[in-house]
Amino acid sequence: MALVVLNGKRGYIDKTGKMVTRDDFNNTWGFTEGLAVVNIGSKYGYIDKSGDMVIEPVFDIANNFSEGLALVVVGNKRGFIDKKGEFVIEPSWRSASSFSEGLARVAVEGKHGFINMRGQLVVEPVYDFAQDYKEGLALVKINGKYGFIDKDGNILPPKPPAQPSGVRCYKCKTGELVIRESKRGPFLGCNKFPRCRTIISIKQLDHLKELQEAGTWPPDTWEQADELLGRKKKKSDATKTTKKATKKAKKKAKVKVTAE
Ligand SMILES: [Zn+2]
Repeated sequence: MALVVLNGKRGYIDKTGKMVTRDDFNNTWGFTEGLAVVNIGSKYGYIDKSGDMVIEPVFDIANNFSEGLALVVVGNKRGFIDKKGEFVIEPSWRSASSFSEGLARVAVEGKHGFINMRGQLVVEPVYDFAQDYKEGLALVKINGKYGFIDKDGNILPPKPPAQPSGVRCYKCKTGELVIRESKRGPFLGCNKFPRCRTIISIKQLDHLKELQEAGTWPPDTWEQADELLGRKKKKSDATKTTKKATKKAKKKAKVKVTAE
């Protein structure tokens, strides 16, 4: 099928060059899900790929099919039809968008929400702005702030809340290390962030707790902290420690294998 323009009218031709859509159709926007919108005069309907008018042009505006339903406008009300041209969701919405992932955005008095394919509100219209669902989430704006909601309308927290560790921060001395989530997994950070930017591997947590209990954490200087964290060592020491660590790791791995 190819879109052609003939005497100012648009239509489709098949492989043999035969015009398969009637030349009284004005606009077509391409086929989606087997049907294309056409307009005759001021009304819109749908044709199939053989050019037959399968849904009569009775709508004031018609949109491409999406997920089996098409958004159409009658008067100033929006509703959704199936491929037989029957209303599945009566034209009762003043504002609506096509279905995406089973939900369609609607607006009531300027506030956006979402309906399911039975026309039921599943996300209350309370948002000042909303985008269609993608991968289960929709971007919304409420009280001047943007965030994502799931398909039940739950607002997702921007990040999981930090967990206290009970270990004090060695840099600022007044802060506490908290367990934060990152893409690469949990880590220890100061709760005074961004004023204090301490970051320590989560692997050090048990070690730091022990040190604090023993009264050697937090140390007086950053250098001492680095030493306690095994970050900076004298060359000879470092080699020793590395060897020791490797041995330890090997032992650990062996134990693990045996345990399994
Ligand atoms: Zn700190």
